[in-house]
Formats: sequence, C-alpha cells, structure tokens
Amino acid sequence: MGSIEGGVQVAAWLDKPGHGAVLRIREDIDIPIPKEGEVLVKLECSGICHSDVHSIYNETPMDTDIAGHEGVGYVVKCGPSVADEVLNARVGVKWQYRTCGKCEICAVDSTACPYQDNAGRNVRGTFAQYICAPVRDLTMLPEGLESKILAPLLCAGLTMYSAIAKAQLKPGHWLVLPGAGGGLGHIGVQIAASRGYKVIAIDSGKEKRKLCLDLGAALFIDFREEDIEAEVSRATGGYGAHAVIVGVGSESAYRQGFAVLRNLGTLVCVGIPGTSCQLPVTPFQMIVKGLKVVGSSCGTPAEMHELLDMAMAGKVIPQVTVYELEDINTIVEKLARFQIGGRVVLRIPQ
Ligand SMILES: [Zn+2]
Ligand SMILES: [Zn+2]
Repeated sequence: MGSIEGGVQVAAWLDKPGHGAVLRIREDIDIPIPKEGEVLVKLECSGICHSDVHSIYNETPMDTDIAGHEGVGYVVKCGPSVADEVLNARVGVKWQYRTCGKCEICAVDSTACPYQDNAGRNVRGTFAQYICAPVRDLTMLPEGLESKILAPLLCAGLTMYSAIAKAQLKPGHWLVLPGAGGGLGHIGVQIAASRGYKVIAIDSGKEKRKLCLDLGAALFIDFREEDIEAEVSRATGGYGAHAVIVGVGSESAYRQGFAVLRNLGTLVCVGIPGTSCQLPVTPFQMIVKGLKVVGSSCGTPAEMHELLDMAMAGKVIPQVTVYELEDINTIVEKLARFQIGGRVVLRIPQ
C-alpha cells in the first residue's frame, strides 16, 4: 500500500455548484486516509444519477467538491478498529454514506436519519479513484454480477425498491411509473412486474416503449402522443391507479400523478422538482379521495439485500451504457435534458 500513502488521485472536480457548472478532471487530489471505522475504497466505476445533476447545478444543496453516489470498488486499506477480513472485499458506496445509528429515527428507519452524511452532497462522492467510507454503512456486494450492473442498484435500484415497498401494493394492483424508461424507472418496471403488479409505464418514444414493454410493463403511454389520464382511466375501469411513484423531477409529473390516482391511492414522491415546489394537491382532495402521500429518498440495508437477491436471480438487470469518467460533462448535460435511457455508468481510470 506504499503507493497509496501520500499519493494523489484523479477525480471529476467541481469548483462551485451552479447552473451549467462544468467539472474538471484533476489528477492532483490527495488520496484520503481512512479514519476510525472507515476503509479506503479503490473505485472501479460509478453510476451517475439525476440527483448528481441537481447537486452540481445547485438545484439542491451541495457542500462538497466531488459528486457521485453509486460507487463500486474494492477495499484496499482498513482504518483503525476495522477487521482485516474486509480487505479486498467488493463494496458499494451509496448516497447514504453515514447514518448515526443511535437516534430515535434510526431506531425506526435509518434512511431518514437527521444526522446522516451523503456521498456527493456534504462529503466527497464517487467520481474519483478513491473514497474513504464508514464500513458500517457500506454494502457488501455479491460475486457473480459485473460491477457496472451493480452500480445502478445502489441508488436508482434501491430508491425504486423502497418506493415500491412504500406503495404497499398487492399482486394485480395498478402502478403508474412516470419516466419509466429512465434510470430509476426502468429498474422500477422490473421490480414491480416481478412482484406481480400491473405497471403503466409513462415515457416517450419508440425505444422507451419497447424497453418498458420488454421489461414487463402491462401498458405504455407516450406522454407526447396520448392522453395520460384517459388511458389510465380506461385501463383501470375508470378508478385510476392504486399507486403512482413520481420518479421524475417535474411539477407537471406530480400534477399528473394526483390526477391518475384512484380513491385510497398512494403517491410516492421520489423525483425532485426544485426544493421550493409545493405538492399540487389540496387538503380537500386528500380528504375526499382518502389519499396517502409518502416521501422516499433511498432504502434500508435490508431492502438493499433483497434487491441484490433479485438481481442475482436475474429478475432485475439494469440496462447500462458505460462511458469514461472524462465524458462526465456530456452525460450531466444529457441527464439535465432527460436524454438518457437506462443508466449511464462511468468507468473510473485504474
Ligand atoms: Zn441517486
Ligand atoms: Zn440517526
């Protein structure tokens, strides 16, 4: 490990978050030293998520200089009081970089810990060759799946897995997924279809239609060509869907979500349409229709393991395109314009 000590690494560096901000590939970033309870991970690849774009463009708060939170790599060094047995293990670094594990919220569900740290938000993220991370919050990854397939499961997959669980559906129930052909959506289609839910995929274009139907959607609605409310109503016998997971960060997607929900339905908030956007629903509508609204940012360690089991069984396979880390600015721009189908994974230079 002599070469790591005091060495420097390559990273996609953000000088300052802001609209249209451009990342610089720097080769002079210090390799961090693992502290108590931490390990040093040499990253192999990292998925790139829409929330990275929100952070880089200053649409949501970001207080660090390296984004990224879907990192896969190997433990190359253990910090104090970490058992050597994790050395060389393949691990995943997630958005939920560190939870306190001690508060009243963690006792119920650590994903909402008010004291958490997030990779790429307030601590350095995964668009770099190395990252130090607390071993307790890392995900140990199974053998048998490629790292580029595992990376999108760490945020896109886990987020959808948990959001679908929060919708509390039964087999045969209707689930509407706006953005179904995107990074989160296309994984959500697979999880929901394998659970026996009837997925109404909403997106646009022939390619995304084919992708969604191939992955198990019961119905595809092209939002550019079809009347979403009329089509959902027709498919569901006039009742509307049992649940909608709004994985798209636009106010219109939320408005549409409430419009296609049946009485007693559940809307799960996942996509972020700017931090000040208010939900387009009135207390009167909530009361009369008996709706439930729930927010979901990621998922629990138990949900992560359930999802990895599904992936190992071939029930959920992210569709990935691999680019080099140096292509990151092009990908950020395309994500901002919703021009990416499936998930992009960045290869980290080794
Ligand atoms: Zn993410
Ligand atoms: Zn906590």
